[in-house]
Amino acid sequence: MAHAIASRRAILPRGVSPRTFARAIREFTEIVGGRNVSVSPAELVPYAHDVIMVPPIWPSAVVRPGSVEEIQRIVRVAGALRIPLWPLSTGKNIAYGRMMAVDPGNVIVDLARMNRILEVNEQLAYAVVEPGVTYAQLYKHLRDRNLPLWLDPPATAPGAGPLGNTVERGVGYTPYGEHFLFSCGM
Ligand SMILES: Cc1cc2nc3c(=O)[nH]c(=O)nc-3n(C[C@H](O)[C@H](O)[C@H](O)COP(=O)(O)OP(=O)(O)OC[C@H]3O[C@@H](n4cnc5c(N)ncnc54)[C@H](O)[C@@H]3O)c2cc1C
Repeated sequence: MAHAIASRRAILPRGVSPRTFARAIREFTEIVGGRNVSVSPAELVPYAHDVIMVPPIWPSAVVRPGSVEEIQRIVRVAGALRIPLWPLSTGKNIAYGRMMAVDPGNVIVDLARMNRILEVNEQLAYAVVEPGVTYAQLYKHLRDRNLPLWLDPPATAPGAGPLGNTVERGVGYTPYGEHFLFSCGM
């Protein structure tokens, strides 16, 4: 495995020249800082594999923004340079592709750093969360504050999150179980 990773050739997004890709990486690095951009095969391993035995799909890079403004800037660079992006919220899409993009060479935009619970409205029973918030985190938030609300999670790892599950049309177990139907303001 280590040898396979070390000898893997860099993958570029489809139709993007090495020069344009290098420019995109420079610009992404200016936006999020060097620690939050990686093209290293070793760091891309989790983004290339599911836990089930399907062939890997290697991305070209991963970028980890920390704010809405950084996402906006990343999308502007990607639009200008025609770089395909693949967003992840908590990346626990286990057995449905996990963190893999559908095409090789995409730049993964990993939103896990954005994990703040911005608001829980007890009276109207809604929460405003950033994409990296997990079900476990939201559950703990409700418990710690003794809020009389019931979370509607899928039957999966507590490390998965409401945003990823909702955009994937996930389902839970209460009358609010059709998650996309009960979401707004995305
Ligand atoms: C044992 C088991 C049981 C499960 N039971 C259930 C169940 O009962 N109900 C159910 O619904 N699911 C179930 N699942 C599936 C699992 O809940 C979902 O795969 C998980 O919720 C995905 O959430 P995530 O936060 O990890 O999403 P992510 O992996 O972050 O994203 C999921 C998808 O949404 C896209 N996406 C994520 N964030 C964004 C964004 N900000 N903008 C645009 N697109 C985005 C990603 O590209 C990806 O395709 C089960 C899985 C397992 C392994």
